[in-house]
Amino acid sequence: MAKIIDGKAISAAMRGEIKAEVEALTARGVTPGLAVIIVGSDPASEVYVRNKGRACGEVGIHSEIIALPEETKEEELLKKIDELNARSDINGILVQLPLPRHISEKAVTARIIPEKDVDAFSDENVGKITVGAPRFLPCTPAGVMEMLCRECVEIAGKECVVVGRSNIVGKPMALLLLKENGTVTVCHSKTKDLTSHTRRADILVAAVGRAKSITGDMIKAGAVVIDVGINRGDDGKLCGDVDFESAEKVASAITPVPGGVGPMTITMLLKNTVTAAKLQNQI
Ligand code: NDP
Repeated sequence: MAKIIDGKAISAAMRGEIKAEVEALTARGVTPGLAVIIVGSDPASEVYVRNKGRACGEVGIHSEIIALPEETKEEELLKKIDELNARSDINGILVQLPLPRHISEKAVTARIIPEKDVDAFSDENVGKITVGAPRFLPCTPAGVMEMLCRECVEIAGKECVVVGRSNIVGKPMALLLLKENGTVTVCHSKTKDLTSHTRRADILVAAVGRAKSITGDMIKAGAVVIDVGINRGDDGKLCGDVDFESAEKVASAITPVPGGVGPMTITMLLKNTVTAAKLQNQI
């Protein structure tokens, strides 16, 4: 049976470290601040935003949730971002996605100055990750790297297979593994014979968005399996992209859903906000 990589416990340990750092910064007169903008009333987005605010409170980061109505015009939102860009007490800004259809995600994420783009979505921050000199690490892949590091999983020289190539998860995940000298393969919906790739993986990262689509027979014996997926199974319960039951019999270590990668994502956002505050105050 695989060892369960406990994202909740790793996240709790990290939040303790972040809290201590925030206290030290606050004592020097710099309290990190995060602004989260939400447009409209998508219930899932409202939960994510509330959780982000709560997590900030837990570690002493000042947070502001700016809830704008669904009919907000793009230029109003851009103006709000300009105001936040100019404020010295706000170090990180994020806009909860998805946005209503009449607002361009590209225009909005591009408006946040790169120094405050704690989601690392801007072209400049993506470019920095690509050349191996990141300012901020994208939260979900960074959370995965942190888990691998804290579990002492060696990456250098290992076969790493990432299933999924989204800009938010798959692509930056592949870049971070490559930076640590993994031999990286990226699979996607046009990949032929997915199993032939996944079965070679020493480290397998699933970011597919399809419930339980990576099954035990697709996994090499002894592999470390990281499940990024968050889906609702047929039974209505939360589940990952990996079929946990069959996978845990083959893998050496595996992240559960819930309680794996999920808790790490917000923790990395907190970490990025602290980094932003330090960079903006030359600390
Ligand atoms: P996207 O839908 O943007 O990307 C999914 C990727 O999977 C695409 O690259 C797609 O390929 C690929 N894919 C789809 N079907 C197959 C298939 N049959 N075989 C191989 N590849 C396939 O999703 P995200 O990257 O945003 O998210 C992935 C999952 O992670 C979701 O379940 C999401 O909810 C979860 N998530 C979890 C987070 C967390 O904090 N734990 C944070 C963010 C996301 P193609 O490019 O060819 O279409």
